[in-house]
Amino acid sequence: AFEVLVIGGGPAGASAAIYTARKGFSTGIAAERFGGQVLDTMGIENFISVPYTEGPKLAAQLESHVGEYDIDVMNLQTAKKLVPAERAGDYHQVEMENGAVLKARSVILSTGARWRNLGVPGEQDYRNKGVAYCPHCDGPLFKGKRVAVIGGGNSGVEAAIDLAGIVGHVTLFEFDSKLRADEVLQDKLRLMPNVDIHLNAQTTEITGDGERVNGLIYKDRESGDERKVALEGVFVQIGLVPNTEWLRDSGLALSQHGEIEIDHKAASNLPGVFAAGDVTTVPYKQIIIAMGEGSKAALSAFDYLIRNAAP
Ligand code: FAD
Repeated sequence: AFEVLVIGGGPAGASAAIYTARKGFSTGIAAERFGGQVLDTMGIENFISVPYTEGPKLAAQLESHVGEYDIDVMNLQTAKKLVPAERAGDYHQVEMENGAVLKARSVILSTGARWRNLGVPGEQDYRNKGVAYCPHCDGPLFKGKRVAVIGGGNSGVEAAIDLAGIVGHVTLFEFDSKLRADEVLQDKLRLMPNVDIHLNAQTTEITGDGERVNGLIYKDRESGDERKVALEGVFVQIGLVPNTEWLRDSGLALSQHGEIEIDHKAASNLPGVFAAGDVTTVPYKQIIIAMGEGSKAALSAFDYLIRNAAP
């Protein structure tokens, strides 16, 4: 049994585990894939004080920093069920896919999120080679170039507005016959001189030259015609899905999008259960934010344990 069990080994979980270990608490961290989304990232230019790094390098540094402390790292382990403690100070239980049951007085959930994929040919082949998911992260890599944004909800339209100020030209593709973003955002987008909007447009393929993206093929759902557009980048903005499917029956409060609802101290509705990073309702999914939130959740767990658990 642990005093603190962290589920998820991305930036949020690594940060949380280091902070609780530094408080002298016995700490375990279980992760399906230590490193999280960072492992899928190439260049990182907005991790402040580190002007440039790459995902696999940062993931290895997270692991070695965690390794500096007496933390029980359980990599390649997937949690499948949370059974919360009945009373404050008692043990929570986390059931793992491998049959193990881990117990802890406090649990920090940091299972992150995943970008919803389009699922069209070319998307996986050109991931990080022109196919991108995060405008805050990768927008500046397309300075002066032509890009597409797929998705006309708030995140797609925000991304298009953001990118239009950086890149040469933006084409926004929406499957539906209308944009779903807030009117004020749509109005702003329509006023931008270097933006085209295609409605009723089903993206069917992302094309490339073998090295990098060179275009996109879409079907005009009204006429049935297939059209090709030449461009250098494609930002997929059709949703970020929190990894909370396994928490549905735990009594944990989730938002309508499935994110864990937390307060300003990273506390969930279940006493002793905290959450941090992309899996939560905290806006703006970024490495630096996930790390900050992880440390906050850890300090809140500390606060909870000194009040509720026997020494
Ligand atoms: P994640 O990184 O998603 O980590 C979640 C962890 O939980 C993983 O270890 C996962 O294996 C584990 N897990 C999930 N489910 C379970 C389970 N049931 N049981 C056990 N473990 C589980 N942000 C930036 O700031 N700058 C960038 O340049 C940047 N570029 C990006 C590029 C790409 C392609 C992507 C996808 C994201 C990028 N981001 C970037 C966003 C950034 O990676 C995330 O905001 C950050 O990783 C979130 O950290 P996290 O710890 O909350 O979650």
